[in-house]
Amino acid sequence: MNPRLVRVAVLGSTGSIGCNALDALSGLRETHELAALTGHRNISKLLDQARRFRPRWIVATDEQAASEDWSGLPAGTELKTGMDGVREVVGHPEVDLVLAAIVGIAGLSGTWWALEAGKDVALANKESLVAAGPLVMGLARERGCQIIPVDSEHSAIFQALRAGRSSDEVRRIILTASGGPFREYTTEQMRHVSVEDALCHPTWDMGAKITIDSATMMNKALEIIEARWLFDMPAEKIDVVIHPQSIVHSLVEFHDGSVLAQMSPPDMRLPIHYALTYPERMPGPGAPLDLAEQGTLEFFAPDEARFPALGLGREVAAAGGSAGAILNAANESAVALFLDKKLSFHEIVPVCRSVLDHHHFEPNPSLEQLWEADGWARREVTRWITC
Ligand code: NAD
Ligand code: MG
Repeated sequence: MNPRLVRVAVLGSTGSIGCNALDALSGLRETHELAALTGHRNISKLLDQARRFRPRWIVATDEQAASEDWSGLPAGTELKTGMDGVREVVGHPEVDLVLAAIVGIAGLSGTWWALEAGKDVALANKESLVAAGPLVMGLARERGCQIIPVDSEHSAIFQALRAGRSSDEVRRIILTASGGPFREYTTEQMRHVSVEDALCHPTWDMGAKITIDSATMMNKALEIIEARWLFDMPAEKIDVVIHPQSIVHSLVEFHDGSVLAQMSPPDMRLPIHYALTYPERMPGPGAPLDLAEQGTLEFFAPDEARFPALGLGREVAAAGGSAGAILNAANESAVALFLDKKLSFHEIVPVCRSVLDHHHFEPNPSLEQLWEADGWARREVTRWITC
């Protein structure tokens, strides 16, 4: 084995980010090696990926996984099952970098165990930081690990921040948002949104949960909180601007008035590639940006009356403590109910507001207390819909 290869574990390889990550890794065969893949329920896709990439391990995390037919597993690939398998592979000395791309709070454990084991993390799972930002960042500092963002906005900010020497030089950061499919809908129109309408995103092709989050703009609320902890930036220094073309991925304004933006055609393989190759810049998959062809880049102030999730995000980013875990869990639970057609689209954000308003705020929660808060918020959402 070539010792110079970066050995990567991709958690959530069967998802949208996971598949893009495998694509990005295919172009990095001289510098990177795929050590491990994990998937939850889509066993045939996981097996297919195992046959194509021949990793040392695959982990099937769902409880039923052990009883599946694994006869198609290639020689040289070892199967592990359950979350213990994730813990084992991210902690293995022959894994250098963990790409955390499991969706939802289920992704927190993998991120946590990777950092605990001293591994750098390419972080797509924003929920890890939304729910447990101070603890996750504290653990990374303590173990001397780097968290490199994969979320396109945070990757843009991370890249632009390399132009300044310290966070003291930053006046504010500006997150761009496509505005989602209902950017121009009235509040009345939003009362009649179906699951099928909400699953159609205008610029990005993503997993179901984040696609619904983009439609309610809860995704941007979660990203405000993610940025608050990742960049140690107070909530009042984080702004949001609507940019429907998704070419400018976010911006940093420095104290002298200079504003640096990172741009590219929308393609998640680019921030993934950057996170995998950081701190180098290697030839990558990004198509060239033709601004003349693009023609127009538009920017609008968000309408917080139609998209109240944004206010929730700012509030939770300022509050810290247990608030992030509560908002994250309430939203995850409400989105699952919406996808199951048991809750209306326009009720998702009010349910989150109600659960947040009723929770017992804990300013310095432990990880165990955050898991309890998560469970409580999910039960509250269920109670809300049955009342
Ligand atoms: P997805 O639904 O397409 O894929 C999720 C992956 O997680 C799958 O591999 C699935 O098998 C696995 N998974 C699901 N439930 C699990 C569980 N309980 N335990 C273990 N594994 C489980 O999601 P996605 O769109 O790829 O998003 C993944 C993460 O990346 C999310 O946190 C999302 O917010 C973030 N993100 C996604 C995009 C995007 O373009 N898709 C952009 C920015 C950030
Ligand atoms: Mg994003």
